[in-house]
Amino acid sequence: MQLYSTKNATAFVSLKEAVMKGLPDDNGLFMPEHIPTLSADFIENLEKYTFPEIAFEVSKTLLQGAIPENDLKKIIDKSITFPAPVIQLDESTTILELFHGPSLAFKDFGARFMAQIMSYFNQKEDEELIILVATSGDTGGAVAAGFHKTPGIRVVILYPSGKVSPLQEKQLTTLGHNITALEIDGTFDDCQALVKKAFLDKKLNQKLRLSSANSINIARLIPQSFYYFEAYKQVKHLNKPVVFCIPSGNFGNLTAGLLAKNMGLPIHKFIAATNENDVVPEYLGSGNYTPRPSVRTISNAMDVGNPSNFARMADIYANLKGNPELNGSTWNNMKEDIVGFGVNDPATKEGIKEVCTKYNYVIDPHGAVGYLALKQYQKDNPDILGIILETAHPSKFISDVESILNLKVDIPERLAILSDKPKVATFLPKDFTTFKDWLNKNL
Ligand SMILES: *Cc1c(COP(=O)(O)O)cnc(C)c1O
Repeated sequence: MQLYSTKNATAFVSLKEAVMKGLPDDNGLFMPEHIPTLSADFIENLEKYTFPEIAFEVSKTLLQGAIPENDLKKIIDKSITFPAPVIQLDESTTILELFHGPSLAFKDFGARFMAQIMSYFNQKEDEELIILVATSGDTGGAVAAGFHKTPGIRVVILYPSGKVSPLQEKQLTTLGHNITALEIDGTFDDCQALVKKAFLDKKLNQKLRLSSANSINIARLIPQSFYYFEAYKQVKHLNKPVVFCIPSGNFGNLTAGLLAKNMGLPIHKFIAATNENDVVPEYLGSGNYTPRPSVRTISNAMDVGNPSNFARMADIYANLKGNPELNGSTWNNMKEDIVGFGVNDPATKEGIKEVCTKYNYVIDPHGAVGYLALKQYQKDNPDILGIILETAHPSKFISDVESILNLKVDIPERLAILSDKPKVATFLPKDFTTFKDWLNKNL
């Protein structure tokens, strides 16, 4: 497998280099040079495969020998350890629950697979690999759980003191082993600035092997394609055109769906569902891509004003090599496959209520945005089967969901037990010298 940068399609790197670097030097994003298709036989017989078996077949085809099959199988078995069930609400509406992992959000799939791949590529190194992550809450929890007890890798998480929720803080500070939490007296931006400075510090980099667990790492995208196949397997018997509706922020999840479609999964359409940060739905409607600062909403994991994976989406549709049906502009190509809807907060709250009263199902604010976008689409397209990606468990947003529904939301045991575990974190001021001294002394 070879990868190129979305800013330079002629210089190729190996999977190892793309994973360990995260980002190309030119600030583009890594993309697979070739997206191979799976056999029609495999797609037709999906129901004969377990979820890990599907993940193995898909990744084997995509990685094209970059990792030997035996090793790849071990990586899959260690990362795809929880299910992705499809729940049917009615004959045309289903929900793909992606929150059965340790941090209760779909990001667990990406973080766990990336941790295993990095550990695999790092195994011949004698020196420990140190991953620095700044988090505003959610990503840190998935990354910490993903890398927990991974040999040869230490994770240092920087989070803004007092600015993450109590349960999020527990997810970052109670794991121990190779996970170290630094509670920074500052904002998320201060945390991110410290990490950036560390990467630029020559002396520090001579002494320590530093890396990042960046959200746009290709190793996070690949495993997110697996559950599109797993979902399709569960609804295939309904014999309807399948439309995936994806609550989106940085559009990694949707881009992974495009990978699945390009590998041969018969997906009829994608719905790009956003909150008021609707730069992509706006583009799909008008052809004009106009990033702007994000606004705060109750589906806050999607408060993104300049989605990082848009470059990958545009790249896929600009490069429909050899597909004679689609030879228009990037925009024309993209809107053949993807429709977009933006949903505001008052509507989202109504959506949470509607799903609860109509189906007795508690959906989180992100999933509710997806639900409403699907309902919009189905007004003109009643004969499709919609699959809404439920990206997080409602208990992650417990105060909003409880006050909207006026009922108690259960916290799954794997999260609830954290509240009894002691927090272990080192409190540091936000200046770089103190942070650097800490790294030098403790690692
Ligand atoms: C990260 C996140 C999203 C957005 O996913 P993207 O891949 O960035 O589009 C949606 N919902 C939840 C709960 C998330 O944590």
